[in-house]
Amino acid sequence: MKLSEMKRVLAAGDIRLTKSLGQNFLHDGNQLRRIVAAAELKGSDRVLEIGPGLGSLTGLLLAEAGEVFAIEKDRRLMEYLEQCFADARNLRLRHDDALELLQHKPHDWSGWKLVANLPYSVASRILVELAQANGCPARMVVTLQREVARRLVAKPGHKSYGALTLLILLRYEPRDWFKIPASCFFPEPDVDSACVTLIRRPEPLLNQAQTKAVTKIVKRAFSQRRKMMFKLLKEDWPEEKLRSAFDALQLSLQARADVLSFEQFVDLTNLLI
Ligand code: SAM
Repeated sequence: MKLSEMKRVLAAGDIRLTKSLGQNFLHDGNQLRRIVAAAELKGSDRVLEIGPGLGSLTGLLLAEAGEVFAIEKDRRLMEYLEQCFADARNLRLRHDDALELLQHKPHDWSGWKLVANLPYSVASRILVELAQANGCPARMVVTLQREVARRLVAKPGHKSYGALTLLILLRYEPRDWFKIPASCFFPEPDVDSACVTLIRRPEPLLNQAQTKAVTKIVKRAFSQRRKMMFKLLKEDWPEEKLRSAFDALQLSLQARADVLSFEQFVDLTNLLI
């Protein structure tokens, strides 16, 4: 959908966009096509889209996927989408808060791909919720604030490396990402955006108990980035056990969480539980 058409639709429906719902719509055709290309869709694919907005991405997804399930929180946009896609047999629209739906109605998404330009205020929470679901999507192609994208692909030692990086790494490997300038959206957001592709690992690295423990360790270790991790972890684990785990991994007691690799967090967890 071109920018002029977008403005016309919004004016005709008297729809005023809401910042709190992250309503910055992507109107740049090239960027939309790059997002769809990153999803590598086949005719048999099922796609979950969170926040279809005015349906610019939805239309392209419908042309390439077997089925699209789109969840939109804004009723005014739902009404427009229902009219606009009245003939689309492979689209299911749901008026709901996607984060609440994911949290309260667990579903097996393992046979799905998430392709979405996410509402920025809840983007990280939606990703963590899906990554921690029993059946998490095979691939997630998500557009979000560039800073959040940096956190998803950050390496140890980088200032963006943190709990989000590690909680997603448990189930996914980041593949590519590309920047999307603010000028590609209407209205223009204050920050640049990026589209990141995350591929689900062939097998979960950890079982449920290990996942629960590593999540607790990661959250505690990054709760105060500047503090020594050993001191922070003492809140949850006996000092002696911690000390011998640090020794076994040759970790300095002075180390801060951001220098540990993902593998070191996994090893530490296995020594502590
Ligand atoms: N997909 C469209 C596009 O690319 O132009 C719109 C993306 S816009 C960044 C985010 C969309 O998510 C908006 O349509 C907004 O109304 C919707 N939204 C915001 N919070 C939501 C939530 N919790 N659940 C579902 N949709 C939500």
